[in-house]
Amino acid sequence: MSAHAILPGATLGVLGGGQLGRMFVHAAQAMGYATAVLDPQAVSPAGLASHRHIRAGYEDREGLEALAQSCAAVTTEFENVPAGSLAQLARSVVVSPPAQAVAIAQDRAAEKAHFVRCGVPVAPHALIDSQAALAALDAAPLLPGILKTARLGYDGKGQVRVTTSAELADAWQQLGGVPCVLEKMLPLAQECSVIVARGADGALVHLPVQRNLHRGGILAVTEVFDGNVPPALENQALAAAKSIANGLQYVGVLCVEFFVLQDGSLVVNEIAPRPHNSGHWSQDGADVSQFQLQVRCMAGLPLTAPRQHSPTIMLNLLGELWRTAVDGTALAPPWAEVLRLPGCHLHLYGKDQPQPGRKMGHLNITGADARTVRATALRAAELLGIEAF
Ligand code: ATP
Ligand code: MG
Repeated sequence: MSAHAILPGATLGVLGGGQLGRMFVHAAQAMGYATAVLDPQAVSPAGLASHRHIRAGYEDREGLEALAQSCAAVTTEFENVPAGSLAQLARSVVVSPPAQAVAIAQDRAAEKAHFVRCGVPVAPHALIDSQAALAALDAAPLLPGILKTARLGYDGKGQVRVTTSAELADAWQQLGGVPCVLEKMLPLAQECSVIVARGADGALVHLPVQRNLHRGGILAVTEVFDGNVPPALENQALAAAKSIANGLQYVGVLCVEFFVLQDGSLVVNEIAPRPHNSGHWSQDGADVSQFQLQVRCMAGLPLTAPRQHSPTIMLNLLGELWRTAVDGTALAPPWAEVLRLPGCHLHLYGKDQPQPGRKMGHLNITGADARTVRATALRAAELLGIEAF
């Protein structure tokens, strides 16, 4: 804990008005903080919930100045904040996570280099940042592979699967010839992630390792209960996440995503310098959520180890679950029927335009034991039109 904790009553700020910002705002307000959100949109999930919404772009000097003036500490809800903006804020207000850590998480190549420095295994990969680099690359050992833009990718966007050198060349053009990482396609047995929170004093706590199911490059389901990830892998994932966070001198909540390969080995995929969709279950399944951890980290409050009190499954609620009526209006899923099931916790983000792949909300399902939770989650999925898992 820092010597100068920022106590309830103060204002905490967040860059970005999306759902992660909204859930941060909810957690901060529950603890008695006032909140300020900086986001360029007139209406945003976090802006709707916050005491104050500064409507400005992420590089708008006046907007950033207003945020710095009104807040005792500032965090971010997305990794693509311009580094200069964090640096400007850091001159007058406490900023976490540190700009340097965010800069590394913004860039797949820098991120992978950091994992290698930490001695954590990564997928075989190569950087393609020019025509010359593409021409010089012996791609065969990396094929079939996935070409990913080094920057600005999310939810599987900015990624193309390639099987031949010719396809690789086309894919690089298709992605605009921007710096990319070609990653070998790995035989996945499962995917998992872990949320760690690190204070300015180096204290580090974590949530249990989460098992994730992606569909079409987007997280669909997270399951968190004993036995869903082999214990040896859990320990490896935790050790890796700790060394990644320590190596970044990280302050704040960090998510580390992993692949478990069919031979049982663990490979780190990527990091997110913020709370993550795969940690949303902690709002209802643990005694400290990832958003409460975010508040504690930025305010310099003590970090106590979160305790999971219920086996939990999270279902993402994507825009395709909303049907369109004949008059063109969106028809919401059958919430009342879903909420009749015991242990269902509905979280909606205040977005009014459902679109396929758009994250509209999530449903956390808690219960006394894993079997019950799975049965309830499968029933909820059926009611919602989510494919069984
Ligand atoms: P997000 O930021 O939403 O987590 P992203 O767009 O950054 O996602 P990745 O995490 O790189 O994308 O990839 C999305 C999904 O695609 C992974 O969770 C995994 O299911 C699959 N995938 C990505 N890379 C590989 C790989 N090298 N081998 C096999 N599957 C992969
Ligand atoms: Mg990912």
